[in-house]
Amino acid sequence: MTPEQVREFAEHGTISGQDPDAGTTGAVVPERPSSRSARSGTAERVEGHVARNYAPLDVTIARGEGAWVTDVEGKRYLDLLAAYSAVNFGHRHPALVAALEEQLGRVALTSRAFRNDRLEPFAAALARLCGKDLVLPMNTGAEAVETGIKVARAWGYRVKGVRPDAARIVVAHGNFHGRTTTIVGFSDDESARDGFGPFTPGFDAVPYGDAEAIAAAITDDTVAVLIEPIQGESGVIIPPEGFLRRVREICDERNVLFIADEIQSGLGRVGETFACDREGVVPDLYLLGKALGGGILPVSAVVGNEDVLGVIRPGEHGSTFGGNPLAAAVGLRAVEMLESGEFQERARALGAHLREGLEAFLGHGVTEVRVAGLWAGVDIDPSRGTGREIAEKLLDRGVLVKDTHGQTIRIAPPIVVRATELDWALEQLRVVLAG
Ligand SMILES: *Cc1c(COP(=O)(O)O)cnc(C)c1O
Repeated sequence: MTPEQVREFAEHGTISGQDPDAGTTGAVVPERPSSRSARSGTAERVEGHVARNYAPLDVTIARGEGAWVTDVEGKRYLDLLAAYSAVNFGHRHPALVAALEEQLGRVALTSRAFRNDRLEPFAAALARLCGKDLVLPMNTGAEAVETGIKVARAWGYRVKGVRPDAARIVVAHGNFHGRTTTIVGFSDDESARDGFGPFTPGFDAVPYGDAEAIAAAITDDTVAVLIEPIQGESGVIIPPEGFLRRVREICDERNVLFIADEIQSGLGRVGETFACDREGVVPDLYLLGKALGGGILPVSAVVGNEDVLGVIRPGEHGSTFGGNPLAAAVGLRAVEMLESGEFQERARALGAHLREGLEAFLGHGVTEVRVAGLWAGVDIDPSRGTGREIAEKLLDRGVLVKDTHGQTIRIAPPIVVRATELDWALEQLRVVLAG
């Protein structure tokens, strides 16, 4: 994209002949929704039979299109969460819906007991996008992380020669890699861990962004360093420049695998295909999920080269649903949509616009902003309320965001959002922060 095009983008939300959301989102700003009391009751009343493992904001979504969702009463909201980046391509992107519908007319589920004719094309395209040889398909992000852990351990014993059952993996403080018992065992978030032990041993946590702490934690038994190249749940924490390159060097020097959890940061969000691309770094294993399912299905994968991912032998790992034809058809289309670089460029241009808008709030109700592509962590000045309170007030004004860790709100719109829509959302934030 030329600088002129980026400007045109920022001003009009579109570039001549280059508008991936054409026809899928309205640029029309919604009427301001009526007050909270007018909505249909509390989350408890609406979800009386749903276990309370979430505390959702008080809105019940019934429809979605592009960057917008509509609640059960017909009120529209601009979605600035995008299902934690699972909806990078927008709600019900026509190309992804078409891939789904076409495959539904053929076959949906086969199990891996047999081959299906969609899996190899998906795997080939994803491997090419990653510059790797092999793809191990799973469903959820946590499963991709678990798979990465198993692969790293098997590689440690079979290739590196680590003593049986001694393998260790270095992880970072503040990590979020999912919700299985093994994964929460190496989290330092008390609400994720407390009451769920005993946990799987074999993990060593060091401060995030500190490459020398990683080097110091590595022993002869270490098989991998597992990190998010940008920590999402922690509040869009961007490591110091050079960190990822240094981790790559350390892993090479010490014969340890570099596993990048790009489940939230990857596939266009940061203005590159992967957050590791920001430093020109290639990990040994990519862990992918969220947007890989095109905002339609859970699709995840571990992607690596033959010398690492090739250690897994038939019967050692699997999933009934992983690599199913429906998921593979949608995943293939999602990968194809990333091949042109169009979404990455759009995230970069809109991200620059978002950064500018957010930085104007510094000292005016915002204490810090961290922006990577179209992804921002915004720390709210406690005098203006908690992150949750700001999220509730934005909800009243037709903007969906999610708070994290008390004072932070996270902004990650579908990449099909328009600059004019972002401007409108920033105006709502300005009003809310002004109290
Ligand atoms: C969301 C997320 C996961 C877990 O994905 P699920 O599909 O919820 O299991 C893992 N790692 C990161 C970085 C994530 O953001």
